[in-house]
Amino acid sequence: MYYTSDWHIHCEGSYDASLTVPHILQKAEEYGITELGITDHVNAPSWITYLKKSRELFDANRRPGFHFGVELTTQSKPLFDYAVKNGGAEELWLLRRVPNRFDPYQGYELPLTEEELRSLKVEYVIGGVHWPCFAPYTREDIIKDYSLQNLYLACDPRVDIVAHPWDFDCAWQNENGIFDTLPWYDNFEAIPHSVHEEFAAAMKENGKCMEWNLCFIVGRQYPEAFKRRYAEYVREMFELGVPITLGSDAHDEYPNCQDAVQEMACRVGFEPQDFARPSFRAYEE
Ligand SMILES: [Zn+2]
Ligand SMILES: [Zn+2]
Repeated sequence: MYYTSDWHIHCEGSYDASLTVPHILQKAEEYGITELGITDHVNAPSWITYLKKSRELFDANRRPGFHFGVELTTQSKPLFDYAVKNGGAEELWLLRRVPNRFDPYQGYELPLTEEELRSLKVEYVIGGVHWPCFAPYTREDIIKDYSLQNLYLACDPRVDIVAHPWDFDCAWQNENGIFDTLPWYDNFEAIPHSVHEEFAAAMKENGKCMEWNLCFIVGRQYPEAFKRRYAEYVREMFELGVPITLGSDAHDEYPNCQDAVQEMACRVGFEPQDFARPSFRAYEE
């Protein structure tokens, strides 16, 4: 087996996933994964209810090598404050669909506090950028917003792993029209190299892991050339001293990616022992 850990998995505790925990554990074992964790989405403060369900599902299936994590989404700080103040039942969607726009680049926030994480005995936190925070839809602005969100995650003490850098859900436009693919999809070099260096320095300084999300290896949405370029980027981050974790980001099907991961990882010089595990928060039993 080439890789033996998977630190990014969604189970039915997540709003958008259907995998049961027993199925995940069975498939992971079959595919050679001995260390893993479930990391369901929390996008807004009230979504702690999802995490409670996730925790119950975890507790009912505990075993050695199986850990409890969460995936927190960055939000625009002004929007976050607005949503908390005007929350209630609508808060779930307030965090994305608000009547008024907010200014970009006004800071970011994560939906749960360290205390809340501890109350549910969360062992590790994945922080992920999932959408632009009011940046204008030009390539330069989206890249600037994404870079700042990534740096925020690299510096926030709650985060252990920065999820899927440069994976994103957004449209952008230029004089030729509107595109609904990533603004660096056609050309990863559109991201200035200094952005990667700054990110790596912040990650190292704060002891964070960077995830190599397996969607960048097996995802059908990415052309082969992009996947190869992304693998080189991951390798460069590793050589700059950033620990790399692997994550399948499975939602509805648990994939066996051994062959694809081995091929792509070997191509850029990784050995199986190069991949990291997060450091876990410890709790008394
Ligand atoms: Zn994510
Ligand atoms: Zn995820």
